[in-house]
Amino acid sequence: MSGGIFDMALKQLDDVAKKINLDPNIHAVLRQPERELTVAVPVEMDDGHIEVFTGHRVQYSSVRGPCKGGIRYHQDVTLDEVKALAAWMTWKCAVVNIPYGGAKGGVRCDPLKMSKEEVRRLTRRYTVMIMPILGGRRDIPAPDVNTSAETMGWMMDTISMFEGRAVLESVTGKPIELGGSLGRREATGRGVMFITLQLLKKMRCDLSETTVAVQGYGNVGSVAATLLYEKGCKIVGVSDVTGGFYNPKGLNIPKINEYVKTSKNNLLEGYKEDGVESVSNEELLLLDVDVLIPAALENQITERNALKIKAKFIAEGANGPTTPEADRILETNGVIVIPDVLANAGGVVCSYFEWVQDIQAYFWDINQINENLDKIMVKSFDEVWAVSKERKVDMRTAAYMNAVTRVANALKQRGIFP
Ligand code: GLU
Repeated sequence: MSGGIFDMALKQLDDVAKKINLDPNIHAVLRQPERELTVAVPVEMDDGHIEVFTGHRVQYSSVRGPCKGGIRYHQDVTLDEVKALAAWMTWKCAVVNIPYGGAKGGVRCDPLKMSKEEVRRLTRRYTVMIMPILGGRRDIPAPDVNTSAETMGWMMDTISMFEGRAVLESVTGKPIELGGSLGRREATGRGVMFITLQLLKKMRCDLSETTVAVQGYGNVGSVAATLLYEKGCKIVGVSDVTGGFYNPKGLNIPKINEYVKTSKNNLLEGYKEDGVESVSNEELLLLDVDVLIPAALENQITERNALKIKAKFIAEGANGPTTPEADRILETNGVIVIPDVLANAGGVVCSYFEWVQDIQAYFWDINQINENLDKIMVKSFDEVWAVSKERKVDMRTAAYMNAVTRVANALKQRGIFP
């Protein structure tokens, strides 16, 4: 492994290929993204100067359906990272068996240092630059790190202006008023909650005695923390880019949520609560808890800290938080890891509901959304769990075995064109 994050994604695929005796011809096809696009994104900044950002959109696979995946704005975005994230989207959609391939997009920029107008202009220009490969039946963006319903509204509007009609199905994670789905904003965190509950049920754990630490208090982490808190779990640690807080007796999650509603960039910095200790992000990962939910970025649990992890269970809210080396260490230590492609699939599952509603122009109520989400998450969990028991492999390997088998079978049946 040469160290890049896409190499990590390939290593995961290669390991699983052996386990399922994957046809080497199919394996070769699945090791490469179908299409990679890199674009320049010039933006007129508020002070009048022009900044040229770099954006990417990678379509990893369209074998099982239109390419699907989020758009991330972050100062560390690289093509290598976007390729890895696009590969993971492919396996994610296959694990939960929704009719999509995988894609991902990203722009290398620091939106926390930009004005809203600058981000809006960046979004519109980036959208136009990648528009030749987008489309509601071809490749459908969604939110990811540092993008939101607002960003998706701008993307949808840009695409719609060029098509001369409101193209609802072109983007998911949109505002409700633009054909967005009820429950979509919370869906990734809600999915993490469903998956965590299912695991705790299998392990016969009592919810009121379960302690949880959550790294990342954004769209995924905050919702997962809140819903697990509402189910009776004790959330003892939370953190974000500004640092974190720990209280072995359990944090006051409603109070934290109230705080981040109005704090700068909705961050935890400056939060105060009696009996609460400050912890760094690194310390948060090592807390003595039952469930650890890394819900920030890639590469958090590595060979450096895996040995020191005390959590019994890890549910990956983020994409790619655990390296393959760390996976081996955790497995040896008996830590059960519910992999990203399963644990955080709730977002894309609800994106699928949104897209179906847009295409049918018929909208569901929130119960229908959450019940269907629950059903798909629990079914997918049980399928992965069964393979894990039968084949005596960890949950990531089992999830990949299901996913890669589905993609490979679809590819076999389609055949290689021409
Ligand atoms: N960005 C989310 C993910 O990583 C959602 C993608 C989508 O809804 O298309 O799964």
